[in-house]
Amino acid sequence: MDGNKKDDPKKIAEELIKREEYVEALGVINKASGKYKGKKPNELKGSDRKDLLRLIQLEANAYARLGQLDGSEERLKGLIDQGFKDAETLGLYARTCKDRYFRSGDPADLTTSRDTYASSFSPEHQKANDAAYVGINAAAMSVLLNEPTMALDFGRKVKKTIGSPISDEYWLLATIAEAELIEALYTEDSEKRKVAFKRVAALYKMAVDGSPEERGSHGSTWLQARRLMRAMRISGEESELIGHAFRHLTDVAPSERVWEPQYRRLRVYAFDPNFARQMETAEVNELILQVTWEDLEGEKEKVSKPAERGDYLGPVGEYLEVVDVDPASGCAYEPINLNDPKLIAKDGKAPSVGDPQFHQQMVYAVGMNVIAHFERALGRRALWSSRISRDDEGNVDEEFVRRLRLYPHALREANAYYSPLKKALLFGYFPAEANDQLLIPGGTVFTCLSHDIIAHEMSHALMDGLHPRFAEPTNRDVLSFHEAFADIVALFQHFSHPEVLRYEVARTRGKFTVGTYLGQLAQEFGRAIGRRGALRDAIGEKDDDNQWQRKKPDPDALVAAHEPHDRGAILVVAVFDAFLSIYETRTKDLLRIATQGSGILKPGEIHPDLVERLAREAAKAAKHILHICIRALDYCPPVDITFGDYLRALITADVDAVPNDRYHYRLALIESFQRRGIYPEDVRNLSVESLVWRKPRESRYNLSDIFTNSSGMPVVTPEWRSTGTRFELWNKMRENAAAMHGWLMTRCPAEVADEIGLHLDSDAPRSFYFNGNRPTAEVHSVRVAQRTTQDGGVHTDLVVEIMQRRRGYFDSSRQKSVDGSSDILSEEHDGDFKFRGGCTLLIDPSSGRIRYAINKHILSDNRLGRQRAFLTDSDHGDRSLRATYFGDGMPGVPEKERFALLHQPGVL
Ligand SMILES: [Zn+2]
Repeated sequence: MDGNKKDDPKKIAEELIKREEYVEALGVINKASGKYKGKKPNELKGSDRKDLLRLIQLEANAYARLGQLDGSEERLKGLIDQGFKDAETLGLYARTCKDRYFRSGDPADLTTSRDTYASSFSPEHQKANDAAYVGINAAAMSVLLNEPTMALDFGRKVKKTIGSPISDEYWLLATIAEAELIEALYTEDSEKRKVAFKRVAALYKMAVDGSPEERGSHGSTWLQARRLMRAMRISGEESELIGHAFRHLTDVAPSERVWEPQYRRLRVYAFDPNFARQMETAEVNELILQVTWEDLEGEKEKVSKPAERGDYLGPVGEYLEVVDVDPASGCAYEPINLNDPKLIAKDGKAPSVGDPQFHQQMVYAVGMNVIAHFERALGRRALWSSRISRDDEGNVDEEFVRRLRLYPHALREANAYYSPLKKALLFGYFPAEANDQLLIPGGTVFTCLSHDIIAHEMSHALMDGLHPRFAEPTNRDVLSFHEAFADIVALFQHFSHPEVLRYEVARTRGKFTVGTYLGQLAQEFGRAIGRRGALRDAIGEKDDDNQWQRKKPDPDALVAAHEPHDRGAILVVAVFDAFLSIYETRTKDLLRIATQGSGILKPGEIHPDLVERLAREAAKAAKHILHICIRALDYCPPVDITFGDYLRALITADVDAVPNDRYHYRLALIESFQRRGIYPEDVRNLSVESLVWRKPRESRYNLSDIFTNSSGMPVVTPEWRSTGTRFELWNKMRENAAAMHGWLMTRCPAEVADEIGLHLDSDAPRSFYFNGNRPTAEVHSVRVAQRTTQDGGVHTDLVVEIMQRRRGYFDSSRQKSVDGSSDILSEEHDGDFKFRGGCTLLIDPSSGRIRYAINKHILSDNRLGRQRAFLTDSDHGDRSLRATYFGDGMPGVPEKERFALLHQPGVL
């Protein structure tokens, strides 16, 4: 029975909508309604009619949630015209009109919404819950329309429908409270009014206290109450009284999306201000980003911790807080108020180099956009790396970091970087030195106005949240990987902006290989520091004669490249070239059609329809590649990553998500990596089969017992629903990690530990850190990854990272003697360096089976020897690299600030 339900596309779509995967939901709906071949529900009979009706309702709902109100309205109106006036259809239609009102401010939308709710209110013929839902909405909309008689009338009817005694359901209680609130709002007599407000407050409190788990709903209830009070100009004591019940929400942000618009539209530079000055590209240099709507704060008192200097915070959202103080000048800039209705109506401030408030808007908008990409690809909410502190006794404490700080004017130098210590992005500004005709001589270049630089730095921070150990250079690839990944994200962002993409397709006649802005990073910055062009170009570069040439793959380049950005660039090109060949595969048929089979375009401009289609294919391929690249982070070993490991992660992630590789993404990736000499260490035959991470032998790897304790209660719970706050998710992750740790220490058999790259027995080499007589192990995280599969299903994995550490010594004989000694070293004793090992496990939570164990064995002498050689190698003797790897030679910069060192002026 359950199986049937699961396969029902309607259920899948409902589930996807719940998880805010609207586009995927639309895909499922579309496929399912295909069999009705354009028929309307009223032309069908029986179960078909019901099925199609529901599909269209779901489609309308998904469109509405996506913010595409026209699409939603069109479908719902269609249904109503066909005579479907059921509560669901009318309810959805009324809600769409209401959303439109909050976007347009047009009272006509509000009236339509209210009238629709009102007309579908029929307590005699409806279930009490349904009637209460439409009734209370009709009442609330009437308040906003300033129609007290209607408002009071519906409010009373709702109360009557629900009746008394009041059920203990949160929603019904909250609805009663809202109906009472409406009455209180219109009570004139001041004594009676006081009593009424007290009663309302008590009702809300009862509802909230009775269902503490419904935090998300508390948020929307509170928002609705505020809207009603705002409409009636209620403030001060009365509003505080009501707010009391919702006080718990001010510490942790509720998800208020139910009542809020879906997106906040904000203007940004598509590339950077310099692009805007070039006539050629002016038309595409401004973009509007649709940033997920959140209740932004800007006022001082709402901020949990004061900024270092003054209180110049804003915008402050769920993930980010902008702090606009400039330490060099001692200046602090007034924060922008993005909630200002004038700014909302104008999609934020217009791009401007001279307006610090626009700078704040730009870092916020681009930052949120990058976060959205990560969340969509990974199937969970993004978390920053925790703040780790040690007390005097050496106990490690982890602190939740809710917001990353963005400092748009932090440095007076040609630099920008992510600071893992401050949990902040620091952007610099500097006068352009270049003798470049495209730049204003001596003009100021702001790194916070470069779309690419913001995306690059955000990616460092997001990666650090997933893999904090990737900031530890243990081989030549680790830091290079960090840089390459940040560039990959920044590059593929370019393809998510349709206007820019169409422009470039037209300009290059669909052939990106002739050189395109889309393949270049940080144009203005590159020119300003005296380069001939962009800071980095993924496809080509200018030669000595200032002629742009496509880069030729060189399988030996990797061996020669040491500096992290130089090495990273090779990985970036490998991924980008794979993208180009996928794009070619995807567009071959289009070009054949457009050229009557020859495949060769006639000279001159190409047809706008072809531009459109090519751009669409490029956007799709780019999005796929970007998401594969992000998703692959869940398939990386937790430490000591190499480019080869990443290739295996990419292939495995893609095999999992898309079993049927129609456009040969995987082959394209493999070939492109191969051409640049990127091979995984122990794999010589580069086929998909050999690159996919090995699955462990099944019989031994059933971990279902860690999901339940002896009394059958779940221990490690795969809890991922986004109704919780990020703090709750983080906490849950820590609880799960503790449960997993318990399993490792008490029940994990030695041979299982060995196969997953760990050693937990008391006979361990003495370079291990011990707790009592057993080596320590650290469960870094237990994350949940969800993916929609090709067939429309949903797949869930638990991703667990486990690590161990040993003391490493530059002198290998010293290592031997420490390892062989019988004494356990005390905690304070450190070696010359830390040697870490461990694994990333992907576990199927329903069966408890380990699907992959991606490990770097802690006992590997080879790896230990390699890390030692790397750290002592004279190749790395040049000063800046030593500084990068060891943190010496840069006074005042703590060792942990590797990105500050990596991003030395002019490098990024
Ligand atoms: Zn970087």
